[in-house]
Amino acid sequence: MATIGFIGLGNMGAPMAANLVKAGHKVLGYDINPATLRGLQEAGGTVAASAAEAAKVAEFVITMLPAGEHVREVWLHQGGLIEAVQAAKPLLIDCSTIDVESARAVTAAAVEAGLDMLDAPVSGGTVGAANATLTFMVGGSEPAFARGLPVLQAMGKNIFHAGGPGAGQAVKICNNMMLAINMVGVAEGFLLGQKLGLDWNKLHEITSTATSQSWALTSYCPAPGPVPAAPSNRGYAPGFMAALMLKDMKLSQAAAEATSSPTPLAAHALQFYQAVVDSGDGAKDFSVVFRWLAGQKRE
Ligand code: NAD
Repeated sequence: MATIGFIGLGNMGAPMAANLVKAGHKVLGYDINPATLRGLQEAGGTVAASAAEAAKVAEFVITMLPAGEHVREVWLHQGGLIEAVQAAKPLLIDCSTIDVESARAVTAAAVEAGLDMLDAPVSGGTVGAANATLTFMVGGSEPAFARGLPVLQAMGKNIFHAGGPGAGQAVKICNNMMLAINMVGVAEGFLLGQKLGLDWNKLHEITSTATSQSWALTSYCPAPGPVPAAPSNRGYAPGFMAALMLKDMKLSQAAAEATSSPTPLAAHALQFYQAVVDSGDGAKDFSVVFRWLAGQKRE
């Protein structure tokens, strides 16, 4: 069993770190938000005094941070993780969803320092994180992937090697772009169904086995009622925050711009999530786009 440094113990990081402890690993964790640290202790992990402290004796160092700027800050700044782990030479794994450019920049700095790094963003939400059923989309070299696989298997069910550095992030932003559009589609369907006099449970039961079936519909229905575990039944508490989905939509639009890819529906959906955030619901689950849409008038 390994010693693992885990930085970023938020909605996703906390349950992922807990699953590493459950699998028998020694986890040293750190987060700038002290409120998250008690959870790690309760799960059987050890709280470190800083990110460098958590990482420097570890064989694996995992980060689960909000965005590219945080990942660059934690890994690259003077006295940052790449410097801190020089002696122990752990495998570095960033599980945050960030831009491909930041992922490649951090990996390049790691490689220059003689370290192996994987970008390994996840899909499956907080439920997947809690149940260790996440999907990992991994970018990096074959040997680094083989080295990281047993650790990732303690947190997830489907672990894919997507390609070289940055390929995991590329898959992830395509995935989230499709999900964001799909969530708006499900929301529109349930709102129209309501206006047509349908019961949401009945609509859900039928469409779950029909051609509109999707994860947003069957596992995460944005209309309250049909899926008891969905954020829609707890006032849209996250889950996956709308502000983070907006971040991912911006990442996908920047990538689409850079590669001249036509993504008109994603561009439109982005405006919806922007409106949700502007209305003050950025810290709610992204499926709150349903409630925002319900408050709109047909033009
Ligand atoms: P979160 O905001 O709940 O957690 C991020 C944590 O990082 C916070 O606790 C914050 O205090 C900590 N942090 C920020 N800067 C730090 C620093 N410099 N040093 C140490 N800790 C620091 O976010 P989350 O929902 O856990 O998401 C994390 C990442 O996973 C994001 O990139 C998100 O896009 C991605 N993601 C989230 C979900 C989901 O359902 N929540 C699903 C898939 C992917």
